[in-house]
Amino acid sequence: MSAPQQGLPHAPLRARLLDLLLGRERKRRIRVQRTLIAFAIYAALSVIQMYRISRGLADPWLGSILIGVVLAASSIFYLATRTGWSERFADPALTLPQMLFGMPAAALTYASGGPGRGALLTLVAVILMFGAFNLTRRQFALVSSLGLVCLGAAMYTMSRLHPHVFSPKEEIVHFLFTLTMLPTIAVLGGQFTDLRDRLRSQKAELSEALARIQELATHDELTGLYNRRQMQVMLEAEWRRCQRTAHGFSVGLVDLDHFKRLNDEYGHAAGDEALRLFAQEARCTLRDSDVVARWGGEEFLVLLPSVKAEDARCALERLRAALARHARWQAHPHLKFSFSAGVAEYLPGEDIHHTIERADRALYAAKQAGRDRIACAPGGAPAAGHQRTA
Ligand code: GH3
Ligand code: MG
Ligand code: MG
Repeated sequence: MSAPQQGLPHAPLRARLLDLLLGRERKRRIRVQRTLIAFAIYAALSVIQMYRISRGLADPWLGSILIGVVLAASSIFYLATRTGWSERFADPALTLPQMLFGMPAAALTYASGGPGRGALLTLVAVILMFGAFNLTRRQFALVSSLGLVCLGAAMYTMSRLHPHVFSPKEEIVHFLFTLTMLPTIAVLGGQFTDLRDRLRSQKAELSEALARIQELATHDELTGLYNRRQMQVMLEAEWRRCQRTAHGFSVGLVDLDHFKRLNDEYGHAAGDEALRLFAQEARCTLRDSDVVARWGGEEFLVLLPSVKAEDARCALERLRAALARHARWQAHPHLKFSFSAGVAEYLPGEDIHHTIERADRALYAAKQAGRDRIACAPGGAPAAGHQRTA
């Protein structure tokens, strides 16, 4: 049985329509969805307004202009979020502009209506709740104050102009209701904002901790190089790549010479510095495509993708020469140290452990031959044995 084909050209019509309406990018989708919910509220308000106009309950002139303005503004907010144009701003959801528009629009809708206008106040509360997603405490206070001023002005003006429709007593009740509701929502919204900020900073801390854990799980703390486990993952990946393509690879197993003696004579800190110096020199000298890992103790493994044994040996010779030339110890500037290495080129069909084993045997041969040299493993290598450059 075949698996469901997500995101393919044969995706269901509904999914494709949603993609068209909301976009595909996850965060933008959420923003556009929210803008569309606000759009739906304004559209519902417009329908109610039309009904009130048709029944003679609302001022037809003011009511019609309001419907036009509200729908035009909603369309602009939708296009701004849907096209991604709003992403140049700190809040791409345009929450504050949408709400700064919503409050006077609600007040004008209130002013244009007759009986039933009190119900509109609950919609103002709903509009304010949108702020919970993005507004800061101050912005919440600003929007609720604006709402209070706009609605208060509408109630006062209309009760003065048309007292028989906007009865002053009723307007006072409406205003008191608004005066209780808006600041309460602003305070609750502010608390929600604090919660949101705390969640955000916890999320940032968690991401940082995760990055640190990943770094610790894949890197060696002393040298900053990849650790053995990560190198094994990379060797596996390289091995798989070789099964699919004609490219081969080589590995170099490096072991610092007389490291125990160095530790014993100069102390463990000097030994640690030597390990760090080797890592630094390896990073500078080898190609970006080459991968170096601390394989254990004072042993390092170098993976050289698409490189033949002879070229791998040359690369390690370069590193050996660079180490002899550049490495400068802070504590012991006169001190020098060297390494020996065994190189093996991957043989088609061979197990990766076998390649490393051959490199290990070559390393042993290099040590046996007197250290400070690089030896190539037989089989795929140009010649068995060891060579010196200097
Ligand atoms: P050879 O030339 O034959 O490789 O001799 P060697 O002394 O380097 O070899 P051996 O394997 O006997 O010694 C390795 C030493 O490396 C022993 C251990 O104390 C030291 N070592 C392993 N890990 C660390 C480390 O993280 N820091 C330091 N300072 N020393 C380490
Ligand atoms: Mg060793
Ligand atoms: Mg050693």
